[in-house]
Amino acid sequence: MSYAINSLLIHGGIDGDETTGAVNVPIYQTSTYKQDGLGEDRGWEYSRTGNPTRAALEKLIADLEQGEYGLAFASGLAAINTVLSIFERGDKLIVSDNIYGGTFRILDQVFKNFGIEYKIVNTSNLEEVELAIDHTVKAIYVESPANPLLTVTDIKAVSNIAKNYNKLLIVDNTFLTPYLQRPLTLGADIVIHSGTKYLGGHSDTVSGLVVVKDSRLAERLYYLQNAIGGVLPPFDSFLMIRGIKTLGVRMDRHVANAEKVARWLVDSGYVQKVYYPGLETDPGYEVQKKQADGPGAMVSFVLDAKYDYRKFFKNLKLVTLAESLGGVESLVCHPASMTHAAIPKEIRESVGIVDELIRLSVGIEDADDIIEDLKQAIESSAK
Ligand SMILES: *Cc1c(COP(=O)(O)O)cnc(C)c1O
Repeated sequence: MSYAINSLLIHGGIDGDETTGAVNVPIYQTSTYKQDGLGEDRGWEYSRTGNPTRAALEKLIADLEQGEYGLAFASGLAAINTVLSIFERGDKLIVSDNIYGGTFRILDQVFKNFGIEYKIVNTSNLEEVELAIDHTVKAIYVESPANPLLTVTDIKAVSNIAKNYNKLLIVDNTFLTPYLQRPLTLGADIVIHSGTKYLGGHSDTVSGLVVVKDSRLAERLYYLQNAIGGVLPPFDSFLMIRGIKTLGVRMDRHVANAEKVARWLVDSGYVQKVYYPGLETDPGYEVQKKQADGPGAMVSFVLDAKYDYRKFFKNLKLVTLAESLGGVESLVCHPASMTHAAIPKEIRESVGIVDELIRLSVGIEDADDIIEDLKQAIESSAK
């Protein structure tokens, strides 16, 4: 029987424990497994290669993304590292122009040294994507909505281009999660997550996840997961499974709050610009509506020049200045000096990541309290 996503969040993957009837998957805190004789293991050999708690999470994320194979890693970047390791010297990737800073950094400072090239493209412009394709390009790497300007890319349209030219499409689905968007059903080949964010949801675990449908791709990725070794520990796998159970109720509240905060910001007179694909005026609105079940809860805005952004951050009381996003608490960050500091200033500013840009991860507190805090912090930061 196939369940709807709200049931899958709770009963997907491996539901409980067959042996004891425990309703939760136990934490198999073990590095190795007894073999009954030479070549006679019971399906588990060594916990880098496989661990039952991690396997339960891996199956769960595969179910949620409507894929076949899931893999769990020690961080989003460990997941990205493993995915990028399928490429070889001379290969090139087309990459969305406002992606997570760490993704840019690993491409620019690590994989480039191994001869893997990248080309930054505004993937929301399909002509640009198609023009960038040549025989060295092996994959298109998209974040939608992208970080931190929430630019929406038409995943299905880009997947059609990728298929026409026989390239892979990789989608970082961290911002929307499978509750709101399932890129494999839109034609993506590989889905990546920083599980640290909404999936875990409580700002207490760092993790990364990958899902694919194709068995040959899966085989290569499992090989690399074991060979590179950046796997998610059993306890963290348990925390992820536990976090995912409430993903639906959390996301519903996150989105409702974000819509309220975004509309308030637009009307407030305090800001030059609001980036949120849930606003009808946002250039990504229509595509977002077509390909996702909601716009997510990341809202970015450019503070008006009348206000001092440094003071704004200092004046916040409820909303916390911190790296990361997707937790139950509202977090705010300054992309230019924090998440996107690894991107050279010219590139950063040319895509709109100016110094006055503020990225807000709207939490699940009372929306009016969040708005009240933003209001007092902005008003008391007047120059
Ligand atoms: C945080 C993040 C990552 C990196 O994940 P870590 O868990 O921090 O290693 C990748 N992509 C996006 C969109 C992110 O927000």
